Amino acid sequence: MIKVETDPNSGFCGGVIRAITTAEDFLSKGGGKLWSLGAIVHNESELARLEKRGLAMTDKDSLGSLAPGSTVLIRAHGEPPATYRRLNELGIKVIDCTCPVVLRLQARVEEAAARSQVVIFGKIGHPEVLGLVGRAGGRALVVEDAGALEGLLSSGALDPQKRVELFSQTTMSPEAYAQAAATLRTFAGERLTVHNSICAQVASRHKELAEFAARHNVIVFVSGSSSSNGKVLYQWCRSINPRSFRISGPEELQQEWFKDVASAGVCGATSTPKWLLDNVASAIKNLQ
Ligand code: SF4
Repeated sequence: MIKVETDPNSGFCGGVIRAITTAEDFLSKGGGKLWSLGAIVHNESELARLEKRGLAMTDKDSLGSLAPGSTVLIRAHGEPPATYRRLNELGIKVIDCTCPVVLRLQARVEEAAARSQVVIFGKIGHPEVLGLVGRAGGRALVVEDAGALEGLLSSGALDPQKRVELFSQTTMSPEAYAQAAATLRTFAGERLTVHNSICAQVASRHKELAEFAARHNVIVFVSGSSSSNGKVLYQWCRSINPRSFRISGPEELQQEWFKDVASAGVCGATSTPKWLLDNVASAIKNLQ
């Protein structure tokens, strides 16, 4: 009989819990319709659950069609200043669920942009990164991997005589960020300041996940297809345990993954709900 363990450290991070709890409180108190500006969490199953409870989704292009007085929730990733101005102009009420960790990072990026060239190591177009670039007045340069950083350095976009400050999106891999910092150091030397801006919850999850992935024969990693943190953590799992498989839900499990296997571990991203991890663990047991 295969032993199945659900990673006790997987599940929503504090920022996502706070945003979802706030939305559920609002809806349960009959506060009227609540619009989330973008997906409140990058997980399709959890979004479907919240939609049933009355949470609707909107995007920046559709804000003009909301009636004045409507309520919009800003998710944990945060938003650039232009979004707040637009919501204000439209007379829309705001419930701001920007994660406190992201809020502090936005303030640090804004301060840095006033004195230095700013480079952000993050995913181009990711909402958190758009918020950070907005707080930098659009002056931050974004690179998402080592290749892009090399390209930036050879393009001449950075002035080697000026100070450079490097920040990471909160959910990037600590290993990849350290590598990017080392590459930038060869260019900027002492003029580089590297900010420790990876979320502590994400950084500790990397360590815990490495131990978890190593102690099972097979790893089933559960995350939504659009989760940036999910992609990073899944690749991290695979680097530790090559028999790692990523799924969105129990219906994607394949019996052959568990042939001659003594133990399977189920884990997920900071956007994966605990209930979904438990459903997957039960489904693996039922495959036997
Ligand atoms: S990963 Fe960290 S910074 Fe990002 S929302 Fe979650 S708690 Fe906040």
